[in-house]
This record gives sequence, C-alpha cells and structure tokens, in this order.
Amino acid sequence: MQDDSVASLVSERRVERGAKIKLVILDRDGVINYDSEDYIKSPEEWHPIPGSLEAIARLNNAGISVAVATNQSAVARGLCDLEDINAIHQELRSRLSAVGGRIEVIAFCHHGPTNGCDCRKPLPGLLREIRRRIGFPLDGTPMIGDSRRDLEAALGVGAQPILVRTGNGEKTEHQLPPLLADVPVFDDLSAAVDALLEQA
Ligand SMILES: [Mg+2]
Ligand SMILES: [Zn+2]
Repeated sequence: MQDDSVASLVSERRVERGAKIKLVILDRDGVINYDSEDYIKSPEEWHPIPGSLEAIARLNNAGISVAVATNQSAVARGLCDLEDINAIHQELRSRLSAVGGRIEVIAFCHHGPTNGCDCRKPLPGLLREIRRRIGFPLDGTPMIGDSRRDLEAALGVGAQPILVRTGNGEKTEHQLPPLLADVPVFDDLSAAVDALLEQA
C-alpha cells in the first residue's frame, strides 16, 4: 500500500499522466538550437542541437502540435532587427521541414528587460498568445525549456514545466527554487520527447 503510493508520487513527478497531449511548447535557444552569449542574430548563427529537429518531427508524427515561445531581446538591444528574427525562423522552419517536422506557432518577445512588456518570459504573455492562436487551454501542456524563466512562465498558465540540460539547463538544474524542485529533467529535447511519447 505504502509502496503503491510512493510509486504513484514518483510517476506524477516525472510527467503528468493520463491526459492526452495535443501540444508541446518549446523554448528556442538552448533547447532547439545552441545558445550564444552573443545572441543568435542571423540564420548563419543558428545551429540546431543534434536530434532536436528530428524530435519535433516525432511529436508531429504522433499527432502532437509544436509551438515555440522565445525571448529575443537582441532586437531591443539593437543587435538585430525583426527581419533577422524572421529570417532565423525561416531557417528553422525549412531545416525542420527537411526532416518532416513543422511548428504551428512561433511567439517571440523582442523587448528588453526594462521595456515593461508582458511577454518577456517569465511573464506569461507569449504562452497566452500561443493559447489564443492555437485555440485551446494550456492546462498540463508540456513546456520544455533550459532556463528558470521558461519554467516559471509555464507555471503561470498552468502548463507543465520540463527542464532540459542543454543550453543553460545544467546551471538551472542546480539552482531550482523550491516551487520547481520536482520539475522533470532530461538530457536534451530528444530525451524529453521520448519520455512524453511513451506516455502519450
Ligand atoms: Mg533558452
Ligand atoms: Zn515582450
């Protein structure tokens, strides 16, 4: 009896079970592609993490839509403009399409930390935009990120935060606040997707 309850607690912690997944939300930098301290400012600087594009395609093949929520303060910092961001997202989409994957919605915040917007993660504006454009509630929707602000944004809309160790992830894992202590952690997007598909 006691063993059962412990087991169910453990599995609950790993990934929320039971609900059919329709959508997975991803952070971009450090999850889909390598992050850079100098920001990703052009398609030439955008390099996918091995296995990440194929992992998105696996979700699609299982009937799961994928959306991206990404902070791009490089625009507010004057390092690149909206055209560059769109060109980077064209590159992402075409590289993804080459392996049979597709992203439904890319929501990005181009503001800086002092602009007072409501979309820069950890604020929930980008996830609300995704909810509006996708047309269904995000309760329990997996949101995979490498930074604390991704996980906090997920909590803000009732989504399920999942951490990957790529990008900032290893650092994040060691600095999780109590509220996020039980968040599931995977080596990379590919491993996180495999775990989600196992329970889908
Ligand atoms: Mg990131
Ligand atoms: Zn913003």
